[in-house]
This record gives sequence, C-alpha cells and structure tokens, in this order.
Amino acid sequence: MVERMGVNASGARHTRARAAWAAVLMTAAGCSATMHEPKVAVPGPGIVHEVRPGENLYRIGKAYGISDRELARINNLQNPDRVAVGQRIFIPGGQRVLPVNVITPKRAIVDAPEAHEFPHGEGVFIWPLASGTLTSTFGPRGQSFHDGIDISGAPGTAVHAARDGHVIYSDTLRGYGNVVIVEHEGGYATVYAHNEENLVHAGDRIRQGDTIARLGNSGRTSGPNLHFEVRKDNIARNPIYFLPAGHAVARETAQHAEDDAT
Ligand SMILES: [Zn+2]
Repeated sequence: MVERMGVNASGARHTRARAAWAAVLMTAAGCSATMHEPKVAVPGPGIVHEVRPGENLYRIGKAYGISDRELARINNLQNPDRVAVGQRIFIPGGQRVLPVNVITPKRAIVDAPEAHEFPHGEGVFIWPLASGTLTSTFGPRGQSFHDGIDISGAPGTAVHAARDGHVIYSDTLRGYGNVVIVEHEGGYATVYAHNEENLVHAGDRIRQGDTIARLGNSGRTSGPNLHFEVRKDNIARNPIYFLPAGHAVARETAQHAEDDAT
C-alpha cells in the first residue's frame, strides 16, 4: 500500500484538484509508484475522508449518502471489505468530513433485547410522533439494512424526543436529509431523520417529549416520513421493542419505502 500522497509523478502534472484526486486514487488502489495514471474519470467536486478506527466502507457510504459499491468503484478499491485505518476515500459531492461513528451504527441486531438490556423504568422511551403510519420496519432491505423504522405523517408534524438526553448531532446529511441524533443515559441514542426542519442544536439538553424537529421529506425518501432509530452502544436495535404498545401509530402491511436511503 502506498502510504503517502504525491508519490506518483503523473498526478503532479494535473491541476491541483486533479492531482490530489489522482493521488487519492493511487493510495486507495494500493498501486505502486510506477503505475500510470488511473483509468478512472475525475468525478468532480468532493472531499477526502480518512478512515478512522471502527469504520468501514458501508458505514462511510451510509453517512455520506452514497452506496459502498459506488465508493468502491469511484475509488478503484480492489477489496472494498478491507479498508485500512488512515486510508483516504474520495467522497464525490461531499462538502465536509463527517463523524461517521456518530452518524451510523456500528452494526445492527435483529433479535429482541434481553430483559436486562432494557433501561429501567416505565415509559423510558416514548413514540416520537403523536400519530402516524408505520410504513417500513427494521431489518434487511434488499442488499442493505434498514437501521430504524419509518413513520409517515403530515409534513410539519412535531417530532418529539423519545427520551431525556442531549443533542450530539443536528445537521443535514445526504440521504438522511435533516437529521437529529440525541444521546441518552446508559449508552442509548435515538436518531430522527428526513426532517423538514431541525429545531435543536448540537449540545442542547432536551427533555422527553420536547419538539426537536418538524417531520418532512428531506433526504432520499419516497414521501414525508420520520426515520427513527434506537441504538445501544452504537448498535442499531429494533425500535419497536423499546416503544410502548397500544400507540396511535398504525401498522401498514405494505412497505412502500423501499427506496429510502435510510
Ligand atoms: Zn428509514
């Protein structure tokens, strides 16, 4: 693996952006300094993401709203399953480096939590919407995995914090649109995506039930809906297990949100 940028002489002859990009490709592809110019088209504006511990191409792609396959193709990766810490990945269209570990779960567990895994007390989590329709469930979705549930509702509907906590992320992300992530006691976090508008900021302390966003259609969605996740120790769990039963959110048998990014 080539460790540093700029070792390839052919890259230096291009414009600055082109040179940097070519070097990234060289590094990512692990080619030797004698290799000629990469046969990959320069895809335009973007940023370089340096892989951090615990990240993989799937998670990086998910955070930036681009598939891991596409990232592998663009970066000319021979083995997309084995990106190394410190490796530089070009993110087409990326505008700033994102905290992948905050934005994406490490992995997901489909099984129901064991009794001891639930936080103590009644009503620890509440539904983030007063009413709505559950349009997509947690679990495998084609080649991908749906890390949360989707609840459709009228645009502008108040999105409530499921539990007391503090906001660790409130911003726009490709795919997710406007997204808020709230950290709670005991290693829990909840995620609220596709918002029309976020009403809180990173660092804010919030109470259960506070209105933190307005339901919307931002990001990659097939209609106005809230994408909601529950994570424990940054592992995505099925939110249904943590939410009280008998709520006004109706279940819809047909899943028509298959093309949602998140
Ligand atoms: Zn979703």
